[in-house]
Amino acid sequence: MTPYDDSNIFAKILRGEIPNTTVYEDDHTLAFEDIAPQAPVHVLVIPKGKYVSMIDFAEAATEAEMAALNRAVAHVIKIKGLSESGHRLLVNGGSDGGQEVPHLHIHVCGGKPLGPMFTL
Ligand code: AMP
Repeated sequence: MTPYDDSNIFAKILRGEIPNTTVYEDDHTLAFEDIAPQAPVHVLVIPKGKYVSMIDFAEAATEAEMAALNRAVAHVIKIKGLSESGHRLLVNGGSDGGQEVPHLHIHVCGGKPLGPMFTL
């Protein structure tokens, strides 16, 4: 398991050291606007716990944290009006996955046709 780096930018957001535009929050999760949106809607949903990756989360998160993360994603989809029009969920992991911030985050994107999943 990759050690968690408390200096990562999402850890700073969770500690209130840098601002964010919150979309949704509960005891276990925070959802906020991506600072460099790649679509008309681009929100990041993160657990408040110290998890680098989906592997860490699956291995160590409580059932309550797991349920909260899933439900938070659904809340964001509804809050942003993407239930009917559609949306894309994306989780980058590690270097090949292009993960830049080492705190688990789910990208929730939508607001226009998003095209092919990715281009290699
Ligand atoms: P990833 O490449 O999957 O690790 O995605 C990291 C995401 O975090 C990118 O989409 C960035 O635009 C976004 N990001 C980086 N810094 C911030 C910030 N301070 N507030 C909101 N989003 C951020």
